[in-house]
Amino acid sequence: MINHSYLRFHCDICLKMETGGVDSSILSLTMMEEAEHHHHQFSSISKLLNNAPTTTSVHDLLECPVCTNSMYPPIHQCHNGHTLCSNCKTRVHNRCPTCRQELGDIRCLALEKIAESLEFPCRYISLGCSEIFPYFSKLKHESICTFRPYNCPYAGSDCSVVGNIPYLVAHLRDDHGVDMHSGCTFNHRYVKSNPTEVENATWMLTVFHCFGQYFCLHFEAFQLETSPVYMAFLRFMGDDRDAKNYSYSLEVGGNGRKLTFEGSPRSIRDSHKKVKDSHDGLIIYRNMALFFSGGDRKELKLRVTGRIWKEQQNSECTPNMCS
Ligand SMILES: [Zn+2]
Ligand SMILES: [Zn+2]
Ligand SMILES: [Zn+2]
Ligand SMILES: [Zn+2]
Repeated sequence: MINHSYLRFHCDICLKMETGGVDSSILSLTMMEEAEHHHHQFSSISKLLNNAPTTTSVHDLLECPVCTNSMYPPIHQCHNGHTLCSNCKTRVHNRCPTCRQELGDIRCLALEKIAESLEFPCRYISLGCSEIFPYFSKLKHESICTFRPYNCPYAGSDCSVVGNIPYLVAHLRDDHGVDMHSGCTFNHRYVKSNPTEVENATWMLTVFHCFGQYFCLHFEAFQLETSPVYMAFLRFMGDDRDAKNYSYSLEVGGNGRKLTFEGSPRSIRDSHKKVKDSHDGLIIYRNMALFFSGGDRKELKLRVTGRIWKEQQNSECTPNMCS
């Protein structure tokens, strides 16, 4: 099992000593629900649906009565005409959830055709997206909408929290106990008392605030094929497009040796695992790490220094730019 307790973490800037790995409590998803709720309201007042002569809006008809999600083809119905979505159909053991009759395999083409003629706003309208889409291309857009919420960037737990960047920054600080720093340079020490243990899933996260943006510095230990390694990398809390405006360098050394890495931070749209598996960061093999630590193999002491800068600008980091 995961054991976070033995990695000590020491920031040379704020002189705080922290212990790695804070258990996260998984919060319920409020942001998405709000967006969905907003979308419902908007739909019922959209001008297309204002033409509907009855109080039952077409949108209500397109809501699966079982799971309440929007239905997409194939839309199914029972012999009595009760509709349900294809996801639910596979789960109800051939019984209509509404009338308990045998369900059979009947498509509801009329409803599918009506749905085809409708347009809806992107579900992230409350987060700033003003686009309107035909019913069936709405889902596709929403999966790539630039206003869609971000997943929590915290690794080491399956956190289901989503939201915009300010929301996630507060969530990381308050719910995951993540250390927050201001400034575009950092100087951290990672200390581990028994470096010979298997140390998969030992990880740290620190959030940096500079240039008005937030960055996640990940530090972790895992087994790369047969070799234990330490890896440090930076992720940008924002879209890929904006991530490219920034660069960072990481440096680790000691005992007369030095390893450096320079690159562009990856957007947190890319999962932590994806970045880690692509080895896009500073990778230090344990033997090398122990050499940096002094070579007595008793304790691992890594000093990682780094800097973030903005591209297409004066890349010197001045105190003004860091705040
Ligand atoms: Zn359903
Ligand atoms: Zn039925
Ligand atoms: Zn959108
Ligand atoms: Zn989280």
